[in-house]
Order: sequence, then structure tokens, then C-alpha cells
Amino acid sequence: MTEWFRRKSKNIKTFYKKDTTEGSWIKCPNCSEVVYKKVLEDNFSVCSNCNFHFRLNVYRYLDLITDDGKFKEFGENIVSLDPLNFNAQKKYSDQIEKYKEKTGVNSAVVTATGKIDNVDVVLAIMNFEFIGGSMGSVVGHKIGLAIDKANSKKIPLIIVTASGGARMQEGAISLMQLAKTTTKLARFSKNGGLYITVLTDPTTGGISASIGMLGDIILAEPKALVGFAGPRVIKQTIGQDLPEGFQRSEFLLKKGFIDKIVYRKDLKPYLSKIIDLLYIK
Ligand SMILES: [Zn+2]
Repeated sequence: MTEWFRRKSKNIKTFYKKDTTEGSWIKCPNCSEVVYKKVLEDNFSVCSNCNFHFRLNVYRYLDLITDDGKFKEFGENIVSLDPLNFNAQKKYSDQIEKYKEKTGVNSAVVTATGKIDNVDVVLAIMNFEFIGGSMGSVVGHKIGLAIDKANSKKIPLIIVTASGGARMQEGAISLMQLAKTTTKLARFSKNGGLYITVLTDPTTGGISASIGMLGDIILAEPKALVGFAGPRVIKQTIGQDLPEGFQRSEFLLKKGFIDKIVYRKDLKPYLSKIIDLLYIK
């Protein structure tokens, strides 16, 4: 093949047509640049042109945060039941099966142990892809297990949130998870545990109102939507226009709701720094 059109600079990659298949490009919603999906994935789903943070797969977060991407998952076989036999437009039991197949995991949170710069930690990473990351009995139970583990081992707990809130399909049982997780967190805190939250896009409803905002240190990703009710609902309720950037992490940082906005590439070193400063063995 002629080399005339190949770019010589190491910073510019040349793709051959045969390397690309349908759907392998994605348009950045922030800068409109068309980026190659593989490059985006290698960059932990951050646009290399404008630093826009796309939503990242749960296991990629574990790769990003833990030493050598090594972790040990627990509670992965726990699956939601359908206690109310809930049937609206779709049967809840069918929805669970569909999302299990679609996402390859059994629930909307992955819980694991791993190390950050050689310090043992417990991690819970929420998965927005699984029924909107909503917290039903299994998510509540697994987060509970993660808190208990951090508490008994006396190691830091990190929760990466991504959720639309409580899982309506489980009714009051879903709401009980707020009480359960916050009580466990209170006990962990009383025992001197270090709890860090990383709020990612979107963190709303019951999750922001419980585990999300209870971190000793609250970090957020750039431009993440963080709030309780959605902006549309608030606008309709109060009948006023909302301020520019309302409910985005930059706005919340200014208002003192969060401690720091951290770019994904800086997340592990930043977590490590917090642990180094605040974790008492
Ligand atoms: Zn971009």
C-alpha cells in the first residue's frame, strides 16, 4: 500500500478502512469530534479531544482504580427476586433477565476488594446500564456487604455511584435500602472508617440522597449530573428557569456540595492521596 497518505507523527493514528466496522465511531456530544471507539475505550472513555467523560463500564473502573487492575469480586451471584410480582408495561422478572443478558452481570452494582497503591480497599461500583443503576434489594444488600467488609477489616470504602434512584419495581422494599445502607455507613463512620464517594453521571434520586452524599470525601467526575429530582421536574414545579449548569458537578462544587472534581486519569492517584492522608490503620 502506498505510504503517501500515512501520517508520520506518532500522535496521529491512521486507520485503514478494513480495520473499521459499522458502529466503530462515536460522536463526542461535547465537542462533536468523531472518535474511534477503540481509542475511546483505551482512554477509559474520555474524549481525547476535549476531555469529555463518557459513561464508563463498571469493570473498567476497577481496572482504572486497582493496582494492576486486580480485584476480587464478591456477591456476584446474588440476583433480584420479584417480591411484588410487579407488572407494569413490562414484567419486572423479565426485565431482570433482559438486563442480566444485556450487561453480563446480575445486578446494578459490582462489589470487590482490591488494592490502591498497596492499601487494601473495598469497592462498590454502580452500573447505570442495569435498569438505570436503580437500588433495589440486591443493590442495597451488596452495598451493605461492602460496608460490613470494610468495617470488619478496618479498610477504606470507595463507592462509585451512577443511578437514577430507588427501584420502583420493588416498592417499599427498595426504599428500605436507603435506611439500611445509611445505618451501616453511620456505624462504619462511628468506628473510624474512611468512606469516599465518586459521583459519576448521573447520580440522582435516592442514591444522591443517601450513600452518594454521605462520603467523608465526596468526589465527582466533570460535568456529571448530580441531584435529587431531575431539572425538568424542578422547573415545572417552581415555574422558573434554572441557573446555567444547574445540577452539574461544577455547579455543585461552587455551592459546596462536593469536595473536588477529579478527571478520570487522576482518579487513582487522588484516591491514593486521600487514603494516605486520612486512613488510620
Ligand atoms: Zn470531545
